[in-house]
Amino acid sequence: MIPNVLTIATTDPSGGAGVLADLKAFSANGAYGMGVLAALTAQNTQTVTGIYPIPLDFITRQIDTLYADVRVDSVKIGMLGTAEITRRVAADLRRHNAKRIVIDPVMVSKSKHQLLAHDAIESLRGELFPLAEIITPNIPETEVLLGCAPIKNLDDMRKAARALRELGPRIVMVKGGHLDGAESIDIVDDGVTQTELRAPRIATKNTHGTGCTLSAAIAAQLPQCATPLDAIRAAKAYLTRAIEASGALDVGSGHGPTHH
Ligand code: PLP
Repeated sequence: MIPNVLTIATTDPSGGAGVLADLKAFSANGAYGMGVLAALTAQNTQTVTGIYPIPLDFITRQIDTLYADVRVDSVKIGMLGTAEITRRVAADLRRHNAKRIVIDPVMVSKSKHQLLAHDAIESLRGELFPLAEIITPNIPETEVLLGCAPIKNLDDMRKAARALRELGPRIVMVKGGHLDGAESIDIVDDGVTQTELRAPRIATKNTHGTGCTLSAAIAAQLPQCATPLDAIRAAKAYLTRAIEASGALDVGSGHGPTHH
């Protein structure tokens, strides 16, 4: 059966990141895509010029109305923007006993704009992470989440992944794309085993929305795969192909999107 997969996140009108990118990744990964909007941005490949949060009660109304009718097989959480929205979404997910939750703890865009209010970090850690099947922070996000010293190598990543697991998610994927090296190496920690996932580093500036796309692909794959690690591997292979294919696009002059 085709899984119904929900993203709760924010729009990027250029379609490279956020809800619009998530929907493309859901389709490309064999899922039926649905979206609840937490906020809107005004954005292109170079800059974010505005963020417009959706009123809390209307976020809840979107979620409640959807769950009243539709079976939701997995959920991807992306940019939520504020502490209030983070807390509200966590409460709504708890109320609906939502399953297979994948959280991309979006904080800062590649164009260097703050996408999550600083006072929301505590709600993300304390209220959303305990609900998660998988969280997918990159290295700068991991450093903020743990308040730790700069992460410089695989060993630091391994320690950070284990520390993040203490916050409650079943599986932590620390993405190593920000480190140097011919390969991009991620650490996946399920509390027992730590697995290294390696992919060749692709020379391109078309990396806008790669975190969104990866976490969306994981959420789409989770209900279709035997294990979460299989879902993560399938999603990572898909993201690598999407980055490789991005050269065929001509979208803006900043960090361009990937091609699904
Ligand atoms: N805009 C929205 C709505 C997002 O959800 C995200 C990332 O999750 C971004 C922008 C940032 O994308 P990137 O940092 O890949 O440019």
